[in-house]
Order: sequence, then C-alpha cells, then structure tokens
Amino acid sequence: MTNCIFCKIRDREIPKEFEYEDDDVMVFPDINPMKPIHILVVPKKHIVEFIELDDPKLFFNIKKIIDKVIKDQKLTNRGYRISINGGGAQAIDHLHFHITGPIDKTMEV
Ligand code: AMP
Ligand code: ZN
Repeated sequence: MTNCIFCKIRDREIPKEFEYEDDDVMVFPDINPMKPIHILVVPKKHIVEFIELDDPKLFFNIKKIIDKVIKDQKLTNRGYRISINGGGAQAIDHLHFHITGPIDKTMEV
C-alpha cells in the first residue's frame, strides 16, 4: 500500500529497528509510548483492520509473538494490555496490536 507508514517500515523505506521479525510479522516500539513499555506487533501484509484478519495461521503466529513480547518484557506479573483499534478508531490503517504495560489492576482505560 503506497502511502502506508507500516508498509514503508516493512519495505525499509522508513528505517526502524525491529525487536523481532519473521517472514510475516514485525515487532517494534511505538514511537509515542503511552506506557513505559509500548510495543507494536504488526503483520507485514497490509491488512487494514482486525476484522479483515482471516488467516488462522497468521493469527496464531501473532499470538505466539505477543506471548514472547510479554515474557521478554517481564510483564507476566506486572500487568499488560493488548489492544487493537479499528472501525475508524485507528490512526494507521494497517493492522497492529499494541502491547502496553506495566498496568495496575484498575478500571483505567
Ligand atoms: P492506532 O491509533 O492504533 O492506529 O495507533 C497507531 C500507533 O502507531 C500510535 O500509537 C503511534 O504512536 C504509532 N506510530 C506512528 N508512527 C510510528 C512509527 N513510525 N514508528 C512506530 N510507531 C508509530
Ligand atoms: Zn500497510
């Protein structure tokens, strides 16, 4: 997708250090962190939003990578949130999963 920032990151048109990468997924820190840890897990394929994700293999690969991020960031017992914006709530129309933490046990949104 020509004007997509995450496609440009994937294609190395925008330099970005990946924390993890495989053939289908890239992981890098959010440029504007909302919590001390704020990492994005992004499929390389330009999928506009969550409801368009229809590949169970890719979904499970993303799940395993999210698990790894949570463990590597030592968030397993410090509180974390996995969030996805969609339906127009997203700023970038290329599917990405936010992992943020540490997060207290609160009703904070
Ligand atoms: P969303 O509202 O879910 O689409 O969130 C988009 C996220 O991408 C925001 O948290 C931004 O801070 C983040 N972001 C935008 N540009 C970059 C970039 N070049 N590198 C890393 N994160 C970015
Ligand atoms: Zn894209």
